[in-house]
Amino acid sequence: MGSTPLEQENQELKRTLRIMAKKAERNEATLNSFFEVELRLLSCSRLSDLLDLILIEFKEMFRLNNVNLILFDPEHAARSLLNDYTPPAPGNTLRFVQSQRLLKSIYPNQKLIVGAPSQPLRNEAFPVTSNPVESCALLPLIRQNCLIGSLHLGSSDPSRYTEHVRYDYIQHLASVVSVCIENCINQENLHRLSSIDMLTKVHNRRSFEQEIVRELSRASRGGYHLACLFLDLDHFKMVNDNFGHQTGDRVLRTVGLFLNKQLRKTDIVARYGGEEFAVLLPNCDKAGALEIAEGLRQKLSKLIFRDEASKPFRMTTSVGVSLCKPDEYPKAHLDDVSYQLIQSADKAVYHSKHNGRDRVSFNEFSGPDNRKRKEA
Ligand code: GH3
Ligand code: MG
Ligand code: MG
Repeated sequence: MGSTPLEQENQELKRTLRIMAKKAERNEATLNSFFEVELRLLSCSRLSDLLDLILIEFKEMFRLNNVNLILFDPEHAARSLLNDYTPPAPGNTLRFVQSQRLLKSIYPNQKLIVGAPSQPLRNEAFPVTSNPVESCALLPLIRQNCLIGSLHLGSSDPSRYTEHVRYDYIQHLASVVSVCIENCINQENLHRLSSIDMLTKVHNRRSFEQEIVRELSRASRGGYHLACLFLDLDHFKMVNDNFGHQTGDRVLRTVGLFLNKQLRKTDIVARYGGEEFAVLLPNCDKAGALEIAEGLRQKLSKLIFRDEASKPFRMTTSVGVSLCKPDEYPKAHLDDVSYQLIQSADKAVYHSKHNGRDRVSFNEFSGPDNRKRKEA
């Protein structure tokens, strides 16, 4: 028996409803995954983590073949934060531009581009690809009406991005990415500013005290020594008295620059006080630390400074060395270990001063005692 028109209509309606429910389900799943991505983006506090998320994880999350990013970085604000960062292969996944010319040529109306890219656009957006890009979404990154970059999502599926679909989600994603990039750059630069000494551009005392705890924790995990050097310029007050405060400042700046240049990237250089510098040498034993300290002392004594009238003069430095051995770490709270290590290196400087200055002394680190740390 054939069904009545009413039953047919009913069945048709049910089918449409099922399709709509499936679509809604898919949309909800997409929305949820976008929320997840959004949360991940917003939780990045370092630019390098944010870039890894975009350039590496987006590929997997969105099943893409290529993800590329161009950042407008006229003052090297982003690049200065990425000294040790290696963008993922293939090459050119991350590019920086000094001018907005390229970005403006990609987005003449600041609007998202979707579909099969033209050859010139393909060359620009995906200069090196391991997979062919058959369709793409090129997202302008905009902050305060200014193009700050361009995010390129490429797929080998020609139907993945077509001109006929609305892309509210990725448009929104582009806004979140833009905010996050700007935010990370600002936050990290602010943090950097608050942790450097404005005169010498090395770490300030506050930052050194944070770094020493961090390095102790690293050394404890890795089971290696952490050496600490204190360098106190000899008779520095006389430089101020004889040649003026400005010449004194220049000496401090030169010493800061010199120490930064002499040491490894993983070493930490700080201005601990007026004319006193502190250095952390991770993974350096007693013999190594003494050799480095002696080398620095000798080289510092050969540096030629000049007063306001260009008259040359030299300075000497008293150096104190102490170090923490791996078996010391588990014994106490790292805050206390760090305090004791600083005290121990300071004591070593005192020995150098006491024994005639311009020398290196070593003070055996005796480990933290139970005394409560005095607040400075
Ligand atoms: P010693 O060999 O015993 O270390 O003698 P010193 O003269 O180096 O040490 P002292 O502690 O007596 O004097 C340190 C001087 O450093 C006094 C202070 O005016 C000067 N100083 C501290 N901070 C700065 C600074 O930022 N710029 C300049 N130009 N001088 C500073
Ligand atoms: Mg001093
Ligand atoms: Mg001094």
